[in-house]
Amino acid sequence: MTDIISREIHLISRPTGMPTPANFALTQTHLEPLQDGQVLVRNLYMSVDPYMRGRMNDGKSYVPPFELGKPMSGGAVGEVVESHAPEFQPGDVVTSNYGWREYFIATPQELHRVSRDIQPLSVYLGALGLTGLTAWAGLYLVDVKAEDVIFISGAAGAVGNMAGQLAKLRGCRVIGAAGSPEKVKFLQEECGFDLAFNYKTGSILEQLNLAAPDGIDVYFDNVGGEMLEAALSALRVNGRIIACGGISGYNAQTPQPGPSNLFNITTKRLTMKGLIVSDWLGCRGEFEHVVGDYCRSGKLKNKETVVVGINNAVSTFLGLFEGKNIGKMVVKLE
Ligand code: NDP
Repeated sequence: MTDIISREIHLISRPTGMPTPANFALTQTHLEPLQDGQVLVRNLYMSVDPYMRGRMNDGKSYVPPFELGKPMSGGAVGEVVESHAPEFQPGDVVTSNYGWREYFIATPQELHRVSRDIQPLSVYLGALGLTGLTAWAGLYLVDVKAEDVIFISGAAGAVGNMAGQLAKLRGCRVIGAAGSPEKVKFLQEECGFDLAFNYKTGSILEQLNLAAPDGIDVYFDNVGGEMLEAALSALRVNGRIIACGGISGYNAQTPQPGPSNLFNITTKRLTMKGLIVSDWLGCRGEFEHVVGDYCRSGKLKNKETVVVGINNAVSTFLGLFEGKNIGKMVVKLE
């Protein structure tokens, strides 16, 4: 193995509120020689995701916090460069949780082999990755059926646009909320949403009521806050909520008040189910098979916003909180 220097991003201080570039450092590390049973991988793409903001805080959560002064982790797609394990050969394409770095050494158990059939390979962070699986799992969780009217917040993002496209394939009427006219156009013209609106240009509830005068059956929540409050008002009796994310509160410095109208859960007999995608990894084979076919046949679009270079990874992550992405936000490593 030749001498390999890898650049990687460390968290060096815990942010308060919105993170800044000063919370991170780009460092270099020398990789150790490969041992028996190990695989050397060069990352081609890495993922930036809103949930990573929670891991920058200290304290217990469903995932452990990032350690200060160590490389952060996250989804990545890479190519095997060298292998001392029989399970992998140079040239194999793998996904892993070793993002935020250019190269890494792993055991076979830490790698998931994927096919080169579908390109670009960043699809394994988006439509065929964990964000796609999140959308897929969410629809299963509350048994979304044909004829359901489903409202999706954060609709033009990675999870949101996939949830909408998959719901359309199930025969639903799909309504989305997103933060710019360009995103609204993308949802209606490229993703087949029946209707989308810009939540920044008017009352969310008024726009939702206009889009669904008879109410909604399902709410796919990526945002929380005001969006959840509007959905609680618009849901019909026996409606269902997929509690996937709450990005509107991720950078809040004080606890946010809950929706003022939670009592709708009682009066309308609503069901609200939480979702953590890692619980669904056992379904990945079926998901990759079905959604892979949708991608190959053109029934489903993998939209992404690609930024090049590990030196831009932090600003790309921060861009998620400013709505800079349409579809999945990914960093291409050079
Ligand atoms: P996105 O691709 O949707 O990117 C984030 C988007 O959120 C932005 O583009 C922006 O779009 C919107 N946004 C940012 N700040 C705010 C705000 N203050 N209020 C409203 N919208 C905002 O990210 P993902 O698709 O990866 O994630 C979507 C949600 O799903 C997140 O909450 C995430 O944490 C959650 N998630 C949960 C998982 C689970 O297992 N439960 C797994 C994966 C994701 P816009 O311009 O429209 O405002």
